[in-house]
Amino acid sequence: MILKNTSEIDIVRANSTKINDVDFENLTFGSVFTDHMLVCDFKDGKWEKPVIKPYEPFLIDPSAKVFHYGQAIFEGMKAYKDENDDVWLFRPDENFHRFNKSAIRMAMPEVTEEIFIDGLKTIIDLERDWVKKGDGNSLYIRPFMIAIGSGVIANPSTQYRFMIILSPARSYFAGEVKVIIADHYSRAANGGIGAAKAAGNYAGQFYPTKLANEKGFQQVIWTDDATHTKLEEAGTMNVFVRINDTLITAPISDRILDGITRKSLIDIAKRDGIKIEERSVLVDELLTAAKNGSLKEIFGAGTAAVVSPIVGFSCQDVYYELPKIENSFANDIKDKLTKIQYKQAEDTFGWMVKI
Ligand SMILES: *Cc1c(COP(=O)(O)O)cnc(C)c1O
Repeated sequence: MILKNTSEIDIVRANSTKINDVDFENLTFGSVFTDHMLVCDFKDGKWEKPVIKPYEPFLIDPSAKVFHYGQAIFEGMKAYKDENDDVWLFRPDENFHRFNKSAIRMAMPEVTEEIFIDGLKTIIDLERDWVKKGDGNSLYIRPFMIAIGSGVIANPSTQYRFMIILSPARSYFAGEVKVIIADHYSRAANGGIGAAKAAGNYAGQFYPTKLANEKGFQQVIWTDDATHTKLEEAGTMNVFVRINDTLITAPISDRILDGITRKSLIDIAKRDGIKIEERSVLVDELLTAAKNGSLKEIFGAGTAAVVSPIVGFSCQDVYYELPKIENSFANDIKDKLTKIQYKQAEDTFGWMVKI
């Protein structure tokens, strides 16, 4: 994909940079932001001209719909710097299309490619010093949209704000992740908003995840809301299960977020002859496989951590430990994907887009 140069974005530069105050070796994920942000408002049925300006808080009316009715969506992506100091995005068109799918589901206006893609290009180009070289370093990108129209009447807003903020990140290691398989709470339901990257999906997960934390587990594996018999997602990541030498991941549905990491891992597996199936994994199948030793791995997949191995799971209050294996599929496939992202391996799929 070719990124267009654009004069359609106004830039107001910060007077000074915060970059010298940042300890890039000790970053807490998502807590430090770069000098600038992109802002673009939707009003009177159309998008205004985007502006990049110094990162700062802003005022919104207390009756803004985002506070009362939760019209809020986001994306999560990363920029990488290679050894030649070139900066790259990974499949940004996928994030762009998914963002607009989320917008449609939440009765919000779609953004244009000029705003989303050219906006990304322009702000990341301006902040390229914040993208550090070296394994595990990246710039986490958070495009989002909120309803800023005022009035506590329950209908869609007529005014919205689209923004892009950027946060330098180190490789994200969640530690040893133990999970509980959900048998009561659900992340998403048929016909619901589980396939949208909507802020409320996260709010709804916090309480059941807190209950899991109190029992010593880091995350919840979500199951289908109707029967709680099928594995769907792991926390805020898609989930992969390895039984013998086959990787299995749930098919995309109303209840499952169409993860870009997930679909990229599937493509890499197919390219490299790893057996991969897109089908539902039953909780019963998982228990049988855990008991007879054919269950080798479970891992989550998503942009922030790329691949997050799970060391054990609890189901109906019984804990099952996963075997410690060498040459795990999780490590292998993560390595293959990150090498493409850092331009250390050939990008046979044409996924990388240069800034
Ligand atoms: C964002 C997200 C994912 C992962 O998507 P990626 O595009 O791979 O980052 C998976 N599940 C949920 C619920 C998500 O919100």
